[in-house]
Amino acid sequence: MTMQWLVAFSGLLGLVVGSFLNVCIYRLPLDQSLVFPASHCTNCNRKLSWFENVPVLAWVVLRGRCRTCHAGISAVYPLVELFTGVMFAWAAWQYGPGLLLVSRLLFGCMLVVLFFIDLRHRILPNVITVGGTIVGFILSFVTPPGWVSSLLGLVIGSLILWLLAEAYLRLRKIEGLGMGDVKMLALIGAFLGWQLVLLTLAVASILGSLVGVGLILTGRGNMKLALPFGTFLAVAAMFAAAAGDPIVQWYIGFYR
Ligand SMILES: [Zn+2]
Repeated sequence: MTMQWLVAFSGLLGLVVGSFLNVCIYRLPLDQSLVFPASHCTNCNRKLSWFENVPVLAWVVLRGRCRTCHAGISAVYPLVELFTGVMFAWAAWQYGPGLLLVSRLLFGCMLVVLFFIDLRHRILPNVITVGGTIVGFILSFVTPPGWVSSLLGLVIGSLILWLLAEAYLRLRKIEGLGMGDVKMLALIGAFLGWQLVLLTLAVASILGSLVGVGLILTGRGNMKLALPFGTFLAVAAMFAAAAGDPIVQWYIGFYR
């Protein structure tokens, strides 16, 4: 298979997978089955016909409204599908065919779902964080970063965040970081290794601070506002997976 075909096929697969990620984002926090019932309008409960399940296009054709009850359908649905499609195409182009591509795609899908669930519900489901950590560690035996770096990443990542969470709790007497964040950092460490998990934590902290300060300055938040740290971790982990290696090399360069 030529590279162009791999990228095109991966992109199309990403659109379809994105549609499944929407189901995960909507149903996982509600403890609903991911398989049954089939996709339906969340307002009038009518089962969707096959063409209403076509990623992105269906939403565009229906102009973001249910065909029968005319309830608005969130633009987040086609955006998740589009983003996942672009992510799949980009990863295929970046990694080429192989197990690393599979590993990074699985990881990317988990991050997309965690990004939205934490943003909306302030939770990070164990089925993804703990389950994903196990999958990431197993995959590290046959893909980068290798099992030693993966093990170090999941231990160091979760330990640092657990210590930060404990310190925060003692100092401020409120829970700023939850165990969900700690488990999510273990997941990121398992997939990316110890160097990139540290980069992820640094980038997520900077992002969180910038957004927090921005919200306070614009009068939309105060010091007690709890930001979804998992959402920032998801963005930071994607950045680390895509652009982290040169940054780590550049940083190590200072110590040579
Ligand atoms: Zn409807």
